[in-house]
Amino acid sequence: MDGAFVRWVSLEAVEYFPATSSAPSVRVYSFGDVDDSGEPRARRGWYDAKGRQPYRGGWRTPVPLARIASRFNPHRMHPVLHVVMPHNGVDFAAPVGARVYATAAGVVTSVGFDGPCGNKVEIAHAGGMSSVYCHLSRFAAGLHVGLHVEPRQLIAYVGQTGRVTGPHLHFGIRRGGTFIDPLTLRFDGVNVVPRAQRDDFDRRRAALDAELDDIPLPAAAGSSPETTEPETIYEEP
Ligand SMILES: [Zn+2]
Repeated sequence: MDGAFVRWVSLEAVEYFPATSSAPSVRVYSFGDVDDSGEPRARRGWYDAKGRQPYRGGWRTPVPLARIASRFNPHRMHPVLHVVMPHNGVDFAAPVGARVYATAAGVVTSVGFDGPCGNKVEIAHAGGMSSVYCHLSRFAAGLHVGLHVEPRQLIAYVGQTGRVTGPHLHFGIRRGGTFIDPLTLRFDGVNVVPRAQRDDFDRRRAALDAELDDIPLPAAAGSSPETTEPETIYEEP
């Protein structure tokens, strides 16, 4: 059946040859999902030969496209109380009812009214981080303490509850209990194949490498200039 389409199975591995440089080719391998016993494995996706999967979090705005009305400021003059009071987060201007999304995956630790913060949601994230959402008009249906949320999951709606002069979302991030500036955060990082699945991954990679090695390649078109690709730096989450 040379050249004829037989059937589409699935894409298991890809080798990429940079077109304009003599940099080495890059292979990535599909891996993940659950194993036969239903044990969770590495997150399904593409991994390089070292078992690394870069991802972009980049979700620093719980209300999409909202303008920043007030930044994190430890020495702010409070607009209602007229005293110097730290602004422990970022205010996003948005109308009542605008959707508010979880900034990262985590577990809901608080849902309810909390004084100056008004209606509040708090979510605990990996690494001792937590995010706080204040002045909400209402909560997403089914939101409760203990609920696991995914990044970009709808959690609530903008409001003007608590000590505010107008509708907006107050968004705070705590690291180890201390408020930090959410806009300085970098959520990008890299997933790594867990140690327990490392042998599985290496076996799969070896098998796929053998298949890739067997695929005949067209001769390289001419000589390409000597350039080296800058190595990608991944930041740990
Ligand atoms: Zn605020």
